[in-house]
Amino acid sequence: MKIGFIGLGNMGGPMAANLAKAGHEVTGFDLAAPMPDGVSKADTAVEAAKGAEVVITMLPNGAILRKVADEIVPAMDKGAVFADCSTVDVESARAVADQAHDAGLLAVDAPVSGGVTGAAAGTLTFMAGGDEDGFAKVEPLFDIMGQKAVYCGPSGNGQAAKICNNMILGATMIVTCEAFALADKLGLDRQAMYDVVSTSSGYSWTMNAYTPAPGIGATSPADNDYKPGFAAELMLKDLRLAQQAAEAADADTPLGKAARDLYAQFVENEGGEGKDFSAMLPRFEKRGHE
Ligand code: NAD
Repeated sequence: MKIGFIGLGNMGGPMAANLAKAGHEVTGFDLAAPMPDGVSKADTAVEAAKGAEVVITMLPNGAILRKVADEIVPAMDKGAVFADCSTVDVESARAVADQAHDAGLLAVDAPVSGGVTGAAAGTLTFMAGGDEDGFAKVEPLFDIMGQKAVYCGPSGNGQAAKICNNMILGATMIVTCEAFALADKLGLDRQAMYDVVSTSSGYSWTMNAYTPAPGIGATSPADNDYKPGFAAELMLKDLRLAQQAAEAADADTPLGKAARDLYAQFVENEGGEGKDFSAMLPRFEKRGHE
């Protein structure tokens, strides 16, 4: 398939490389990042998009996505698929889909989870909203770049699924870290706490699969000095998107809001930037000893 790929950073680079490796004809454009192996370089976004059956974007945020869409949508062939895999606000995803539809294109919003290791290994999970025929067309590409693609309904629903998932993840990580710090204060051994909770009703992905305490439970960034992994500032981005969506939809999400505020404090005032999002645990430890 002839594919245009715009945004070849930490995620987009390896994703495009996997498509090229699988034999697709991939033309890439990025303002700064180098072209991955097997990807031909375009000089502009329009050049990457022209004549492509599918254009995939993997960009930092909704404002940049809208800007790129303004450039490429008029240049794309009718019937082609605009598949955005960035994590952006639901409103931008829906606005770009409307713009694509008005130009006779199919649109899919398909953010991913799995991080840079998943992008490199081709094991991402895609959560997709938008046109069903568009999804059918890009699903084989998602199968190359990932291990699972879930169709979630109309445009914007992929982004909605992503921010709901990450709101659960952020809040759960915080409370898991709080529980370890509380156990310390109560003189409860961390290993004993883990052994109980990981097989009791308090179990969770953060406790069982991504244990934030070094040397306990699953091997995770905690065992590597909290190097990301999933950086705290990316978690903050997703928690902000969740609150933006909650406010727009008049949904009551007090724990999601508290999680956003705590990650904002951690990233902006407490040196959390560049650390894994599980470094909330040393934050609570420190606070406890002040
Ligand atoms: P990144 O900053 O490494 O890559 C973004 C790329 O977009 C950069 O190379 C930048 O030069 C390019 N770019 C910016 N403006 C552009 C424009 N106008 N035209 C062309 N290229 C442009 O970011 P990333 O980590 O690859 O993340 C990309 C998206 O994936 C984000 O929305 C992020 O939230 C999401 N995401 C990231 C992770 C992760 O672990 N890194 C996990 C899941 C989802």
